[in-house]
Amino acid sequence: MMVCPVKAISRRGQDGTIQIDQAKCVGCRQCAAFCPYQAPQWNARTMKMEKCTGCFDRIEAGQEPACSTICPTGALQFAEWDEIRGKGADRVPNFTNPAQTRPRIRFVVDPYPAGQ
Ligand code: SF4
Ligand code: SF4
Repeated sequence: MMVCPVKAISRRGQDGTIQIDQAKCVGCRQCAAFCPYQAPQWNARTMKMEKCTGCFDRIEAGQEPACSTICPTGALQFAEWDEIRGKGADRVPNFTNPAQTRPRIRFVVDPYPAGQ
């Protein structure tokens, strides 16, 4: 949000998701260079940046995000942050230090299983 020169990136007040306004994006790729999670993804067809929307439209309709709904192993789960904030760990190997960005994600599978 801070590096975008045209303020195309914003946080939705209703749910805290980060959104890219396609009408404002000028395709400079600054956000991709700075995001520690590689969330912004380049669309070579539109020449603009895109990212996960958090499926806010589904959430507003009382549904879960599409990815957690179709994940065949249940590896992705969606819940209110207050329900999961104390579960599992806040990072796994190779995951950017969450101290500054405080992503709303928890890892509930032991990243260091015994014997490995
Ligand atoms: S690529 Fe688009 S959203 Fe990203 S910083 Fe540039 S103008 Fe902003
Ligand atoms: S399906 Fe999952 S990854 Fe894709 S936009 Fe929805 S929440 Fe984001």
